[in-house]
Amino acid sequence: MDKKPYIGRFAPSPTGPLHFGSLICALGSYLDAHHNAGRWLVRIEDIDPPREVPGATTTILHQLEDHGLVWQGDLLYQSARLPAYRDALEQLQAAGLTYHCDCTRQRIVSLGSIYDGHCRHRQLSAQGAIRLLTPAADCAHASLRFNDLVMGDYQQNLATQVGDFVLQRRDGLFSYQLAVTVDDLFQNITHVVRGADLLDSTPRQLYLRQLYSRECLALPVAQSAAPHFAHLPLATNAEGQKLSKQNFAKPLLKGDEANNLWQALLWLRQSPPRELQLCSVQELLDWAIPHWQLAAVPKQLNLPAPSSY
Ligand code: GLU
Ligand code: ZN
Repeated sequence: MDKKPYIGRFAPSPTGPLHFGSLICALGSYLDAHHNAGRWLVRIEDIDPPREVPGATTTILHQLEDHGLVWQGDLLYQSARLPAYRDALEQLQAAGLTYHCDCTRQRIVSLGSIYDGHCRHRQLSAQGAIRLLTPAADCAHASLRFNDLVMGDYQQNLATQVGDFVLQRRDGLFSYQLAVTVDDLFQNITHVVRGADLLDSTPRQLYLRQLYSRECLALPVAQSAAPHFAHLPLATNAEGQKLSKQNFAKPLLKGDEANNLWQALLWLRQSPPRELQLCSVQELLDWAIPHWQLAAVPKQLNLPAPSSY
């Protein structure tokens, strides 16, 4: 039995306004939290200034409010958490778990993006990126396994499928993997409901979480029990690409909120009754919270968005 109170989150990066795909993640995480009488937090993942769009955070927050997706507690901005990431990195370094790497992007792409540990023993100091050592392929700790609440059993060997991964980039920015792991622990997140594009990041986060709790928080692994994960299908465009700013996903339009929620509920196979179609945002959410069924969400990595999105 899970006795910890449910704490979920939506963690947008301010790279542009919400589109149908990001609404799916916001709505899915919101409904799952409220259905389970949990708290729903919003964390702004603004740790990559070159990718950020001025004003996007404000736009996203207004879009959430307009869809009735109101968060509890204070917003957490990752840009205010840099000392925590630095501290985590320093402690992992002090434990001998990291090394510097000056390999070019081109070399890593030529390896099929699975890093081969080339710089492990080169003793580079203070240049390039900082990578985390992963266990040898045949070591029991290299193989990570979890039961995703949507996608089911998922297994990955960090050594053969990922390799030593980056904690701090060559430009000094902290990696998504480090920041998300430190913050999910810091916020006591018990349930991570997000897009299936992050399914294959989860083993890295589980591994880092174990090391971070041990080296930085001096917690026995049992006390930092991993959160539950639920990865929702990715909404794709007519060409089968993930909706994103890069491929010109349409921002959600102001005034269409109730219809957006209706379409998102249908897309998540929640079967809202027909008479709700012309109802308000609040009426839709009031129906959707008690009727939410995670088990009805399609177990598919990709699913086309409705054609109007
Ligand atoms: N900030 C990430 C994104 O917008 C999501 C991170 C997460 O949910 O773990 O893709
Ligand atoms: Zn290298």
